[in-house]
Amino acid sequence: MFDLAIIGAGPVGLFATQFANLHNLKTATFEALDSAGGQVQMLFPNKNIQDIPTYSSIKGNQLVKKLKDNISEPVIVNNKIQMIEKKNDYFLLNNTYKAKTVLLTTGLGAFHPKKLPAKFDNEHIHYFMPDAQIYQNKIATVLGGGDSALDWAIELAQYCKEVNLIHRRNEFRGLESNLKTLQTLKNVKILTPYLPKDINVVDNLIQLQLKGVGNNDSSMIETNDIFVAYGYKSDNRLLKKWGLTLNQEGILVDRSMATNISGIYAAGDNVSYPGRVPMIALGFGEAQIAISNIMAKLFPEKKITLHSTSI
Ligand SMILES: Cc1cc2nc3c(=O)[nH]c(=O)nc-3n(C[C@H](O)[C@H](O)[C@H](O)COP(=O)(O)OP(=O)(O)OC[C@H]3O[C@@H](n4cnc5c(N)ncnc54)[C@H](O)[C@@H]3O)c2cc1C
Repeated sequence: MFDLAIIGAGPVGLFATQFANLHNLKTATFEALDSAGGQVQMLFPNKNIQDIPTYSSIKGNQLVKKLKDNISEPVIVNNKIQMIEKKNDYFLLNNTYKAKTVLLTTGLGAFHPKKLPAKFDNEHIHYFMPDAQIYQNKIATVLGGGDSALDWAIELAQYCKEVNLIHRRNEFRGLESNLKTLQTLKNVKILTPYLPKDINVVDNLIQLQLKGVGNNDSSMIETNDIFVAYGYKSDNRLLKKWGLTLNQEGILVDRSMATNISGIYAAGDNVSYPGRVPMIALGFGEAQIAISNIMAKLFPEKKITLHSTSI
């Protein structure tokens, strides 16, 4: 019987595990994928993150490594929690694990990239970009206009001989300073407003045909690899199945991060309340609120020491 089951080992679930360890809670942390780190590990492992307290800059994969190094038990990976059943005084997970309380840190949930039509299927079309260095001296093409597209183009430009960034609008949604950086890089070509029309592979080189959006323009570029950053579809169906109250953005929580089900708490990108922003450091704070309230629920007789130096 665990005191606490943490579901999802993104940055917030990892930090929640560390904080639960600090309070000596008997904790099990589950992750659906084969490794921990969530969006940070999957979507931007090489990004220099500049808004984590105490680090002026830290790469995504370094942050994940540090978070993992700080927990006492390894995350139980390849273990997607599909079922949470409320029993009298505990929760039964996947018919196997028992826990007195649950903290949901499921982030975007099980996420899948939005794909190009099937006619583009090819081993050189990628929906994740774990390591730009692999594409040293190649020609890379990034499709999309959001943060991931701009981040990937900047990372690839460090190693590739040429990077094309193709977006269907003239305006980009991603961070303006990143767009400015890309506009100054000599090996980056920005092509807008274009959409991919077709591909043709000749001798390991992809010929990508483009069609203009809102005009009759057409163009053709040659590239070795194509990175599609059209965003992700996330799946909230499990949360509904578990009986949680949700709105369009996520799980509704009160100020103690408690959900509508007594004993189930939530923190990180899966929660919704007015003014919330999807940021890692905010999720860390939410995890601390949740765990402190879980402690109070499990051990009402204990006076919780928040700091050794509490005044
Ligand atoms: C391109 C990009 C750049 C970003 N840059 C920054 C930045 O510079 N600074 C910043 O603060 N934030 C940034 N963010 C936002 C940041 O990544 C998120 O706020 C953060 O990852 C949220 O963490 P999380 O742990 O709540 O969720 P996630 O990172 O989404 O992790 C959730 C984890 O839960 C797992 N999971 C889901 N369902 C289950 C289940 N049923 N069973 C088991 N496991 C499950 C998932 O597989 C995943 O590993 C960026 C996001 C993107 C997309």
